[in-house]
Amino acid sequence: TPADVPLGAELAHRAALSMENARLYREAQEAIRLRDEFMSIASHELKTPLTPLSLKLQALARELARHPDAIPRRVVESYLEVGTRQVKKLSELVGDLLDVSRITTGRVTVTLEDVDVDALVREVLARYEPQAARAGSTLQLDCRASGFVGRWDRLRLEQVITNLVDNAVKYGSGNPIHVCLEETPGGARLKVRDEGIGIDPEYLPRLFGRFERAVSERHYGGLGLGLYITRTLVEMMGGHVRVESEPGKGSTFTVELPRDSSAFVASAGEDARP
Ligand code: ADP
Repeated sequence: TPADVPLGAELAHRAALSMENARLYREAQEAIRLRDEFMSIASHELKTPLTPLSLKLQALARELARHPDAIPRRVVESYLEVGTRQVKKLSELVGDLLDVSRITTGRVTVTLEDVDVDALVREVLARYEPQAARAGSTLQLDCRASGFVGRWDRLRLEQVITNLVDNAVKYGSGNPIHVCLEETPGGARLKVRDEGIGIDPEYLPRLFGRFERAVSERHYGGLGLGLYITRTLVEMMGGHVRVESEPGKGSTFTVELPRDSSAFVASAGEDARP
């Protein structure tokens, strides 16, 4: 009958709606699960540096009671070293959390200036030398762009380079890390390559997402926010970041930036940092 046609369409429409609702529901559930899991990882990660820190402070108080006038210098130095390292770890975690909250509420600002990116890369590598050595690794600068100057946010660019080098050291299994900075027709390209654990292809598409962590076991630590922040900052400056990786062989992260980010930053209306 003619009435069947609209009825059929109506049913199909309802079915489609309920399928759409089911999909939205599943997505919401997944977002909630990810957030809850993140909260538990975050609390654990924030607590981890506090344990050695408070143990060292208690031990220092005991030493002070035992030798009120002269604690051996070597003891003080070792306590300072542990304390400084743990406080640094804590402030990095809190910094990442703050950045993510700034990103989600649209409060990240970009301040452009002339940046000698070659000098900046060498600065970050020099700073990471001791950490790489502790991991049994070396940092090698394979190509350079001496004197190349672009218009970027220096601190944010430094944060991007630092995140990639930090990950390469962390997941690089102690093998040499290769860094390459090149001038491109449009700007600059930075590659950070490690020969470490690599990344499961299944996780690659989600690697730059918020709260994503490819390594489920807790051995490596970390909040899984660094790459999300990295991608956001690079894109705010009009660039992009990509990864190639093979499990057990290593990973290469590539950042491409336009020589001058002004057009991107101005159009996003973000250049508001006082
Ligand atoms: P995290 O603080 O956990 O290192 P990131 O956002 O920097 O957070 O990285 C997200 C995840 O991507 C990491 O947990 C790790 O599993 C994976 N990852 C990042 N860089 C590398 C790399 N160079 N080699 C292997 N895995 C990596």
